[in-house]
Amino acid sequence: MFNLRWIRASLLVVSQMGCSAPPARWVVVGEGAASPGGLLDPELPPSIVYELAPSADEVAVTVELDGEEDGETELGLGAWAAIDEPSLWLSGLSATADHGPVEIEVKRFGLRPKSRWRVRHDPGARLRVHYIMTPPTDAPIEERHLVPRISASLFRGVGNVLLMTPVGEVWEPARRIGFRWRVPAEIGVASSFGAEREGAVDLTLDDFIHAFFMAGPDVRWVSDDGGERGLRLAISGSWTFEDEAFLQQLGAVMQAQSELVQDEHASEQAPFVVSFAPYAEPPAGYSFAGTGLTDSFLAVATPQASLDPEQKGGRRLYHLLAHEMFHEVNGRRIGREQPEQLVYWFSEGFTELMAFRSLVRAEIFDAAVAAEEGRALMEAHRSNPARELPNADIVKRFWTDAGARRIPYQRGFVVGMWLDGELRRRGIDRGVDAFMAETLRAADEHGERVTVERLLDRIETMTSTAFVARIRDVVVDGEMPPAEAFDALEGVFTH
Ligand SMILES: [Zn+2]
Repeated sequence: MFNLRWIRASLLVVSQMGCSAPPARWVVVGEGAASPGGLLDPELPPSIVYELAPSADEVAVTVELDGEEDGETELGLGAWAAIDEPSLWLSGLSATADHGPVEIEVKRFGLRPKSRWRVRHDPGARLRVHYIMTPPTDAPIEERHLVPRISASLFRGVGNVLLMTPVGEVWEPARRIGFRWRVPAEIGVASSFGAEREGAVDLTLDDFIHAFFMAGPDVRWVSDDGGERGLRLAISGSWTFEDEAFLQQLGAVMQAQSELVQDEHASEQAPFVVSFAPYAEPPAGYSFAGTGLTDSFLAVATPQASLDPEQKGGRRLYHLLAHEMFHEVNGRRIGREQPEQLVYWFSEGFTELMAFRSLVRAEIFDAAVAAEEGRALMEAHRSNPARELPNADIVKRFWTDAGARRIPYQRGFVVGMWLDGELRRRGIDRGVDAFMAETLRAADEHGERVTVERLLDRIETMTSTAFVARIRDVVVDGEMPPAEAFDALEGVFTH
């Protein structure tokens, strides 16, 4: 059975839904946890439409939606990742309804989303809310991929900090969401939902805004349907490699990851999209960063990026790609209960470990290269001033303290190795891969979201009460792992 995920602008295309043969993947993809809304009527018009009109120094956004029946609709825009208050970039807000301009009132209070706008209108009126976003161009280097990039050569941003969403329970279920680009014909466009200039997707608003939107004169879109899951590359800039060669390596990593976690639902997922772009102004030295999004991730790199794992620019690039891609499993399909920082030791730390394991499996890294990277990570862990920070403190300090921001990656990497060694000692030959496979299955088939306790329960089931107590001391209380955990590096990349 197939569910609607991707729909072309012309909804007539999906009339093939009634056929017994699977329709074209690009139009209709996926089911299960990834498509929370179930099958929506293909004829249904979108209940909300976002229009994006980027220019060299700002992006104009228009949101069209049916106002609520009580004549008051609230829209919000809030904190995401390191960005606390994107509404400070907003200007020129106006709204119109069927009968003309309508009144807007601004409220700011401490709950997410922080900034809210209340629009008063005739009950159920169709609203058009219009505003301009002008993000800063001088964000610190470690946040530059999170702040939308707006320039003549490229627009790229994540919806969380650009797109206002209506607030309230009625807006929470999955729905049909339209998107439309208003750009000159020569400008290429791409998003987590395809390269069409106009389209719609069936998702929750939360998933829809957790996506990248990208436009520019040199934006290219390259497709690979050879694997179990479709893969797309949205790329800008000129690099030391060809787009197709890059896409091929991405495909090899995706295949390796799918095998490691024994993914039985890969072919049901929407195509996976990678957005890759240069910095507007490259910083000195090597800089690579990325973030995982709905069915996609975005990454930014300095010009040293290379497909040669012998070079530093190659190693850094592969590490970034494998890490961000694994978040599709560990982060999106395996969802997290809030506050999610409590399980970053798993979603970031185990992702570090699985990223290196997948690069070895894809025969891009030698086991010795992965072990060398692992040793560097362990050294950084030992010298991290936050190495004994209790888990609960990571919630408050993650985005403000550099040591606290790194500790879940380092601690979780070591715990993952330790678990791998213990599982194999107990005759579970696939080690940490078996643990990941179980967790993914629970997410896909039972909708389980991870919490510290659920993860520890699963570890206990697969090992022992005594072993999980030692893991708890590390991941909850912040104790340094024992020597045995670090020693597990020996062997973690050779099975
Ligand atoms: Zn990550």
